[in-house]
Amino acid sequence: MNLPATHYFLLIYPICLILIGTAFIVAYLRFKAPKYLMWMGVGCIQLSVAFATQTLMTNTQLRLTAPWFAILYIGGVWAVVHGMFLKANAKLNIWISSGLIIAGITLLLYFTYIDENLWSRVVIVSVVVLCLEALALPKVYALFKKTYALEKLLCLSYFFVVIYAFIRALIVIVYLQELQHMTVATTTWWMMLISINVFISLWFAIILSAVAVKEMFTSLNEERLRDPLTKLYNRHGFLEKTKDLFEKKQYGEVYLVMCDIDNFKNINDTWGHVVGDKILYAFADICRFNIREGDIVGRFGGEEFIILLQSPNEEASWVLVERLRKKVEDQIFIHDIKITASFGAAKIETESQFMSALEIADKHLYEAKNSGRNRVCFN
Ligand code: GH3
Ligand code: MG
Ligand code: MG
Repeated sequence: MNLPATHYFLLIYPICLILIGTAFIVAYLRFKAPKYLMWMGVGCIQLSVAFATQTLMTNTQLRLTAPWFAILYIGGVWAVVHGMFLKANAKLNIWISSGLIIAGITLLLYFTYIDENLWSRVVIVSVVVLCLEALALPKVYALFKKTYALEKLLCLSYFFVVIYAFIRALIVIVYLQELQHMTVATTTWWMMLISINVFISLWFAIILSAVAVKEMFTSLNEERLRDPLTKLYNRHGFLEKTKDLFEKKQYGEVYLVMCDIDNFKNINDTWGHVVGDKILYAFADICRFNIREGDIVGRFGGEEFIILLQSPNEEASWVLVERLRKKVEDQIFIHDIKITASFGAAKIETESQFMSALEIADKHLYEAKNSGRNRVCFN
């Protein structure tokens, strides 16, 4: 055994990291957690297994297996960096990263089998790890600038990981040149580096778990508020967003618009429900892409949709709804099907007026239907 008896508690960290890493992978495989979590899990496990196994080895075993563990270690860092790129919605450059890894491994093998030199190997691993981690810095910085507090903390933690890798490489290069003459694991410097390393890794994994849990709750909440077919807000989501809109300062006037696709039953009867569903989805897209930021659109039921739009006055909002009606009329759907829709609108001043505005909008929609469909009725 290589570790002084008093330092066995250090094994707690890799064991925790292995458990966290396993949880990340299970979350991805079983619960559709994002892919970055899986790669981070792979990285956590690889790094911890390498660290824990090496900790339990004798110096002779260490010397014999060191290059292979170094490869495991570099692979673990690669997985974490790859995960971090995915988190930042970016892609790790495969050529640069593989180039770094291949150069590192070649040098490692050289300093193991041709010119045995422990210090050179430690320098190589430290420098390759630093370079790999540094590759993600621009993307993580871009994410840091635009994201929410908890994710900012994750980005900051990543910066610390890179700063630590830099300091470690410096210490190894400047102070540990005599490494081959020492019993590695008992060097105070070495123990200190390892302790900081495992502490930072554990901290990073905990923040990452917190980010993943927050993302999961946000996405569950979003799902609860969305209609599964069109992905527009459902009735519940629409009401919640309406509340938000009135709580924030809105500009101009607000109009509630009810919309119903004309003769939709005929489409289902002629083409079947699957085609009907596709048309509903495409119709939802027309609404989604033709309202402005800050307006809200939802599916209120069957082939009925609801929109809350802000505009300076009634005339301006009529123009907006009329434009939407025309878009629907002009669109050619699957199997060259054409459809039309009728619209009824009402002004709404406070959230508490929602039900009465809905009633008025519905009445206007009824008028639009009765006066020939494919039209907009305000008053
Ligand atoms: P009107 O112009 O008076 O609105 O006529 P309509 O045929 O559109 O109205 P009606 O209320 O008679 O029929 C609505 C149809 O919408 C009936 C139903 O099969 C269809 N529908 C409702 N929800 C869905 C859905 O989720 N998918 C599909 N494919 N059809 C749906
Ligand atoms: Mg209809
Ligand atoms: Mg209807």
